Amino acid sequence: MDNSPPSDAGLTKVEGLWFDSDPLVIKAGTRLFRVSPSQLGYHAKAFGDILSMPLAADAETYEGCPLLTLQDDPQEVEMFLRAIYDPSFEPVSGIPCAEILRFSHKYDAPSLRRGMLKRLALLYPTTLTDFDMLGQQLPAPGNARIVAAVARECQVLWLVPFATLCWMQAPAENYTADIASRAELWAARERYHKLWTRHVISIHDADFEVRTHRAFSSMRQTRECISADRSCATSLMRKYSRDMSTRSYDMLAILEDEPLRGTDSRKLCRNCTRVFLDRFDDVRQQFWDALPGLYAVEGWDELEKMKNKDLGKVDAEPARRVYLPREKPFLALAFLVAHS
Ligand SMILES: [Zn+2]
Repeated sequence: MDNSPPSDAGLTKVEGLWFDSDPLVIKAGTRLFRVSPSQLGYHAKAFGDILSMPLAADAETYEGCPLLTLQDDPQEVEMFLRAIYDPSFEPVSGIPCAEILRFSHKYDAPSLRRGMLKRLALLYPTTLTDFDMLGQQLPAPGNARIVAAVARECQVLWLVPFATLCWMQAPAENYTADIASRAELWAARERYHKLWTRHVISIHDADFEVRTHRAFSSMRQTRECISADRSCATSLMRKYSRDMSTRSYDMLAILEDEPLRGTDSRKLCRNCTRVFLDRFDDVRQQFWDALPGLYAVEGWDELEKMKNKDLGKVDAEPARRVYLPREKPFLALAFLVAHS
């Protein structure tokens, strides 16, 4: 007896995932797939368990094959099945990787999960060195938002800090219809803004005694300054003002590897340049180290251990971090907060 669904209008046999010789039909939304159950069970243990159960006499069938109906997102099901059955399939961006990751997590498919995490690890770095190697090839905010959400859902927390950081660059107007996402975006930016302010002040403050808001006009030279006029102080003061008015969620401005952008470097003496660059590297690393805390996940060291485990590098030790003491931590920030 054929127990086909009463109407198959609107159902689509998905090209490349419909194999006439295979005995199992999977339905997700309006998409139909006909595949090998043994291969599916081999890759995803949860399917192995489902498919090993005896079929009920009145079980649904489609074209004479047992029909397995999934309530999952049809797009995710398709991506997952492509990853298993289509040898030419290459998930090229973060979204299909995230879709396959979510499905693999839910249906216990460890090798596919690991494969997707290896791809995502290349796009979402956990160290400043790897971030610098990305250059301008940053994930699009829309992709990053999906990756961040899936990463939390699948307990892959080491992806969360950088994915959220990329998402924060999204234009807020993209989320006008999605109140929850917009609120989340603003909350993330608010936390980020505080860190950004601290970052800028830390870089500039050790050279200056900021007594009042108007003290910008009377900042002192750096102690080691060898310029004959006040050109170093003036140039750094201009950069400080520019940095403080930069959009705080503009990640590239914060983590840029050209720290003297925005200054006329010819006007800085060699001592001021050295002092500034040394401190910039130090503060930039501290800034990166603080990112996980912004998004309520473990610190990088702990995340690195999770990452090594997820990627199968169980014996690898996380890179050691060196924290350098700072001369006057957040003095000016305390001042600004007290007088704002
Ligand atoms: Zn100088």
